[in-house]
Amino acid sequence: MVREKLAAGYSNGQWQPKGGYYTIEDGYKWLRQDNSPKVTWFNIVWSKLNTPKHAFNAWLIRHGRLLTLDRLSKMGITDQSTCYLCGLQDEDHDHLFRKCIYTCICYARLQSWLGIQGSGFGSAEQMLKLRHCSGFLRKLLCSLVVATHYHIWHARNICRVEQRVLHPKLIIQAVLEDGRLALLKYKYFQISQHDREWCNLRGLM
Ligand SMILES: [Zn+2]
Repeated sequence: MVREKLAAGYSNGQWQPKGGYYTIEDGYKWLRQDNSPKVTWFNIVWSKLNTPKHAFNAWLIRHGRLLTLDRLSKMGITDQSTCYLCGLQDEDHDHLFRKCIYTCICYARLQSWLGIQGSGFGSAEQMLKLRHCSGFLRKLLCSLVVATHYHIWHARNICRVEQRVLHPKLIIQAVLEDGRLALLKYKYFQISQHDREWCNLRGLM
């Protein structure tokens, strides 16, 4: 699909805004921004607060492209179907990031630590709709959910390879550490006094 898009863009001269010369930068920008309608989750996946590996993991999840057991089974690579983390239900994207009891425990612990009320904590979209939060805090919470998804997938892979389940508190610690690192990239004055206090209280600053 990408190859076809590139071929069409090249033959129509759409890559050549600088006097007819092709540059990789122009081709990348055209492919990423100019030629497709923006998907609704674009800002969730490509937020500046996400580390690149979290963003890429989130992109794979949105496309249903992680090698979960349902996909591996269809490829004929495995007969295993039961979720490594809970051992209760079959593993697919929806189970792993929404329904798995292990995942739900991680969400509940993180939600409690952050003091967020309401349901749907594991959904990045829900974080962007939170009331009584500044736009900055919504984006921060969204990035913490994206980081949680990354660490759940990491925990799942450890479980698969090493046959051990990471304690959910280790997931929360890793997510909060990622949150601290993400905030370091922000200029201090760009964060309001209220939001800095919010982050301080939760050990994010
Ligand atoms: Zn499970």
